[in-house]
Amino acid sequence: MAVATGRRTLYLVVLVILPVLALAAAVPALWGWGIGPRDAVIAVVMYLISIFGIAIGYHRHFTHRAFRCRRPLRIALMLAGGMALEGPVTLWAAEHRRHHKYADRPGDPHSPWRYGDGGLALLRGMAHAHVGWFYTARHRSRRQRWVPDLLADPDVRRFDSAYPAVAVLSFLLPAMAGGLWAMSWTGVWTALFWGGLVRYAVVHHVTWSVNSIAHTFGERPFTTRDRSSNVRWVALLTLGEGWHNWHHVEPSCARHGVLKGQLDPSARLIRWFERAGWAYGAHWPDPARLSARRRSSAPGTEGMPAG
Ligand SMILES: [Zn+2]
Ligand SMILES: [Zn+2]
Repeated sequence: MAVATGRRTLYLVVLVILPVLALAAAVPALWGWGIGPRDAVIAVVMYLISIFGIAIGYHRHFTHRAFRCRRPLRIALMLAGGMALEGPVTLWAAEHRRHHKYADRPGDPHSPWRYGDGGLALLRGMAHAHVGWFYTARHRSRRQRWVPDLLADPDVRRFDSAYPAVAVLSFLLPAMAGGLWAMSWTGVWTALFWGGLVRYAVVHHVTWSVNSIAHTFGERPFTTRDRSSNVRWVALLTLGEGWHNWHHVEPSCARHGVLKGQLDPSARLIRWFERAGWAYGAHWPDPARLSARRRSSAPGTEGMPAG
């Protein structure tokens, strides 16, 4: 599917330039009046909704079908993922399924190893994997090919066509919360800034770190054909997504942090959804598969969380 130059420029402005400007504006704002407790709470709540929406909704449920869930939860997860402003779910899932199929080989939309292993080539590759691919990709993954299952779902189609409204909601929600909390227009503006602009800029760079950092640095305790890796600080910020190595072994597994000490709040939340009866049929890690794919030099897989 060809992408017109105008549209690619739009991606660049919305996805890269605006968030960086927001971050740059945040610095004097931080020194000028600082972020108050009200805006901090709103920004953190919006951050958690966005990241869980991407990790549990867009990624584990819609892209990899790691668990099934009831319709209200499915719609809520789709909306939460939409708050991250990373595009409609079909677009996201199509690119990501292609990433798994060709991971770190020709055809991968965002491999940091695209230009080679050398210092400068890797630096260029990391920039490409982090943000560059939004702009340089001359073709988007064809949705009819990669996500026919999602296109067949009327809820998903409705969400896709209502996506501009969802994007507006991502700013309207924090602004309204700030206005109602403070009962003032200042409350609206500062919450729009921190909970809207700054929050989405941070959410973007955090989620993109999985593509750039967690395919370059960190440990690889499992055998895979690609260079997916585990990076603790990325995992913390992404609520579990930075345990990327096992994820490439078994993409449909609901838990990414499968080794001892690998905190995976997204998996924990899916477990809670299961207990509440909202989610079912989750694929939890199989200890036999774990040890079979473990690199021989690595220590044992004891202490694996149950799910
Ligand atoms: Zn990956
Ligand atoms: Zn994945």
